[in-house]
Amino acid sequence: MKVLVINAGSSSLKYQIIDMDNEKMLCKGLVERIGDENRSNLCHEKVGMDKMRVQKPIMDHTEALKSVLAALVDKQYGVISDVSEISAVGHRVLHSGEDFTESVVIDDEVIRICKKNAVLGPLHMPANIACIESCKKVMPDTPMVAVFDTGFHLTMPKYAFMYAIPYADYENLKIRKYGFHGTSHKYVSGVAIDYLGKENAGRIITCHLGNGSSLAAVKDGKCIDTSMGLTPLEGLVMGTRSGDLDPAVVEFMANSKGKTASEVLTILNKESGFLGIAGESDFREITRMAGEGNEKAKLALEMFGYRIRKYIGSYYLALGGLDCIVFTGGIGENSFIGRAEVMKGLESIGVEFDYEKNEKFDRAPVVELSKPTSKVKVLVIPTNEELVIARDAVRLTAK
Ligand code: ADP
Repeated sequence: MKVLVINAGSSSLKYQIIDMDNEKMLCKGLVERIGDENRSNLCHEKVGMDKMRVQKPIMDHTEALKSVLAALVDKQYGVISDVSEISAVGHRVLHSGEDFTESVVIDDEVIRICKKNAVLGPLHMPANIACIESCKKVMPDTPMVAVFDTGFHLTMPKYAFMYAIPYADYENLKIRKYGFHGTSHKYVSGVAIDYLGKENAGRIITCHLGNGSSLAAVKDGKCIDTSMGLTPLEGLVMGTRSGDLDPAVVEFMANSKGKTASEVLTILNKESGFLGIAGESDFREITRMAGEGNEKAKLALEMFGYRIRKYIGSYYLALGGLDCIVFTGGIGENSFIGRAEVMKGLESIGVEFDYEKNEKFDRAPVVELSKPTSKVKVLVIPTNEELVIARDAVRLTAK
């Protein structure tokens, strides 16, 4: 059974075909710069082969999807001979609003609700909906499933997800904490529970650290709090996002710099975080510069670690103790410097971190970086959001 997984961003479309008989990826690819006539392109990679690159004008997500389907059936680089071989399509959809706690089979009603919720994710949701509607046209008989990036977090208790703003603004405008990276937090917490056993993994903090980063507090497999908010801007210090700050900064910056609120939000989303503090958004650059003694890069690293530790401290209390911390995402999986920075001073809550092993270990589905005597286990678990989406697609569409 072959499943097509689609993950659309505002100007990009990532995809994979996964053979669900053995859960192996057959190919993956990326359409970038959608809408940019001169630079839009598709890069397609069949496992075990060179990449195929196609540069041509791809003006919207419908055209992007057509290019993807053409690559999938390509004589040399393709992995299927006809689109009818795709048994199901799994769409990563950014926002569930308050409507979907679980993945769902897509029908007209689901599309209607997604359109209603588009206001909550104005950059991604139109792209997600365009991909769903295009697939429906091109493959009308293939079942489709929506897997929501916010869905896992909808189990948060009300006192955790509410902002202390006028209640009517929650009721009428749905302003509240939603959280993101839900598929990843769900996947890695599930792997940790399988690895440690249910009774030893009732209280987990998952750290998804990449360009965008978030933490989740997971109690008995359910999310009870997370660091991102109404949008992905809240929470940690990220590649280009500021994370938490006093909301009054927005007006202060706008007045002082002669900018509108939305221009200030662009600064907070795209020109802040590591980029704002040290001039680089890529964590590899930050650690390289810090290693060379660059004071701003060192400061960015310290701010990154300190913010995460503050969240870990508060989630420790929210969970009523802690069994396990999980690292995942580009930084969490790959940067021993990043992990060590987060671990500073966590002995006080029962973490005995193996700094030596942290620097050198072989990649595996689960790597344990805490010492055997540590009360709190520390694990590195590579995330696999596409697999979660494909599994849900199979689970919900199997006849
Ligand atoms: P996204 O949020 O875009 O999915 P990723 O999860 O791919 O991001 O993470 C990207 C981040 O991971 C970048 O800051 C990058 O520098 C960092 N990263 C990736 N590989 C390494 C590595 N080997 N060492 C240190 N940092 C890494």
